[in-house]
Amino acid sequence: MTQRTPATIVNIGYRSTNYWVVSAGASRLLVDIGWPGTLGIMKANLKKVGIPLNEIRYALATHYHIDHAGLAEELKREGVPLLVPNVQVAAIPLMKTWTKPGDHYVDITENGNIVISFEQSRQILSQIGIEGEILHTPGHTDHCVSLLLDDGSVFTGDLPPEVYAFDNPIALATWKMLRERGATRVYPAHGPIRALDETPEEQNP
Ligand SMILES: [Zn+2]
Repeated sequence: MTQRTPATIVNIGYRSTNYWVVSAGASRLLVDIGWPGTLGIMKANLKKVGIPLNEIRYALATHYHIDHAGLAEELKREGVPLLVPNVQVAAIPLMKTWTKPGDHYVDITENGNIVISFEQSRQILSQIGIEGEILHTPGHTDHCVSLLLDDGSVFTGDLPPEVYAFDNPIALATWKMLRERGATRVYPAHGPIRALDETPEEQNP
């Protein structure tokens, strides 16, 4: 094992959506990947926080809805490989059905996609210095995933907050699993960071 730097987390989000850069030193993972047609905004926001694009080792979408994965192809062209847990593969081609020509969405190809199993995720993250794993966390869509760091930080995308998910047994089961796995601090795709047991204000992602 090489020496480990604690992960730092920066939000470079815009348009009511959080995009998280998780960093181990200068080795970084982007969690959720921008609205279509907003590469300029994403680059400007990275610049503002002093993060060079070429330090982002992978991009990961919590799920393939346009506010979460809209720039995936363009970022690949900029040299950022797309990490795709295998439950997400079938959802990727459906992205284009939710976009209009005016969105300037660039369809996601298979080029540069690194398809992995959940079991492989810990090792792949470890190779870039990040201690944690990617978990299947259905409840918003069936193909939703979360990044859970070993320090308890969890990036849950659009998973509905537990207190509002009383009619969503799949989401409730996901929250139970995350709690059992040691999640303590929630980094959602919309709204502020919160403790796992804190009641958030209702969001309309
Ligand atoms: Zn969504």
